[in-house]
Amino acid sequence: MKFALFNDERSEATKGAKGVCPCCGSELIAKCGEVYIHHWAHKNKCDDRWWENETEWHRNWKNEFPSDWQEVVHHDKSGEKHIADVKTDEGWTVEFQHSYLKPEERRSRNNFYKKLIWVVDGTRRKTDLKQFQKVINEESSLDKPSQKLLYVHFPEWSRLLMEWKDSDSLILLDFKDGFSSNEDLWLIYPRMYKDNIFLSQFSRTAFIEYLNNNMFDEIMDKAINPIKVTVEHSIKNNEKTTGYWNTKKEESHMWLGLPKAFLGHLKLTYNILNKIERTY
Ligand SMILES: [Zn+2]
Repeated sequence: MKFALFNDERSEATKGAKGVCPCCGSELIAKCGEVYIHHWAHKNKCDDRWWENETEWHRNWKNEFPSDWQEVVHHDKSGEKHIADVKTDEGWTVEFQHSYLKPEERRSRNNFYKKLIWVVDGTRRKTDLKQFQKVINEESSLDKPSQKLLYVHFPEWSRLLMEWKDSDSLILLDFKDGFSSNEDLWLIYPRMYKDNIFLSQFSRTAFIEYLNNNMFDEIMDKAINPIKVTVEHSIKNNEKTTGYWNTKKEESHMWLGLPKAFLGHLKLTYNILNKIERTY
């Protein structure tokens, strides 16, 4: 971790420094080698069983935010304690997830933190980017050809998507520079009707800026939730009238029966997520 407590102050690891874990109170060792990022390590295991060893990727992400938002100890009513990677003033917890997480652990974290965003390292396994690219190439957007909103027909082609698709929290996949632009994250809309997966690109700088400026509640209200609500509503309506939901690829941009106003809203959402223009 980046911060230990020493005399009740948060301090970063320097050679020979002493400190304790802000979560479990046990002694930490300052690791200040030349290869790995300077950090604090537990002598024994931390009580916070969710704690994951930091990579440079974790540290770079955390450093995009004020230091008093980083590694914030969070309690629930039962006294359970965990360290959130980042906690914003608006109450959003951002977790940077590098390693594989068991579904039950993922769910318990979704319950522990009410407003949770996961940023998932999409480069850990070599196959993840390839599989994801294949999924993207096969997908159909709802407003061809601009691809502002993608419906995933074959989630089973991507292990990463299968692992994260049924989340109630917001998921952002980070492939770093795997795609043509290294700016983009991929947003998986929070659990949709029947676990359907919808994706939009989300600019990395916009994401960071919105969180830092405490605008994320607003982004949820104006950009992300309206898409989720409208799409789900249309799917359900469509099912009601036709008795089934046709997901055949060739008809995919028609099948939703989305209201005309939706495309306008989709554009607004896309512009907000990618900071194309200030339209709000
Ligand atoms: Zn600890």
